[in-house]
Amino acid sequence: MTSHAPEGYDCPFCAVVQGTEKDGVATKQVDIVHQTDLLTAFVSSHQWPANPGHVLIVPNGHVENLYELPSEWAEPFQAATQLLARALKKAFDCPGISTRQHNEPAGGQDVWHYHVHVFPRFEGDELYGSDRQRVSEDVRSKQAEQIRRALKILEEREYGEE
Ligand SMILES: [Zn+2]
Repeated sequence: MTSHAPEGYDCPFCAVVQGTEKDGVATKQVDIVHQTDLLTAFVSSHQWPANPGHVLIVPNGHVENLYELPSEWAEPFQAATQLLARALKKAFDCPGISTRQHNEPAGGQDVWHYHVHVFPRFEGDELYGSDRQRVSEDVRSKQAEQIRRALKILEEREYGEE
C-alpha cells in the first residue's frame, strides 16, 4: 500500500503517545483523556468552532490508515469510540455525536497516523461548513478536564458505585 507520509516523517501522534512531543507540535500530554495499552484519546488541537471539544482516538502503534489497521484492533477501537461518544455527551450536553475517519489525501487525511474523530454535534452546527481553527492549550486543557470528569462518572456508574 502506498504511504503518503514524507520521507523521515516525524509523526505528531506517535510523539503524543510516547510523551515526546516537541514545542512546535500542537498536541500535548494535557490533551490526553483516555489511554490503554492499545490506544490513546486526546482533545484535538484543531477544532471546528461550532463543535468544541472534539476528540481524536489513535492506535499507540504507528499505522497509517484504515487499510493497515489490524482487524483485532477494530473491536477495542469501536468500544473506545463508544466510550468517548458517551463521555462527550455528558461533558458538553450535546444532542448528537458524529464520528469520521479519513484515508489518503483524496479522503481528507492530513496526519499520517490512523485516527478517528469523535465530534459533539448540535442542531444546525454545519460540521465541516466552516474552517477549523487551532485551539489554545488553555482552552483544550479545560475541555480535557470536562471529558475526564465525564469518563470518571461513567466508569463509576459501570461499576455500580455512587
Ligand atoms: Zn505515528
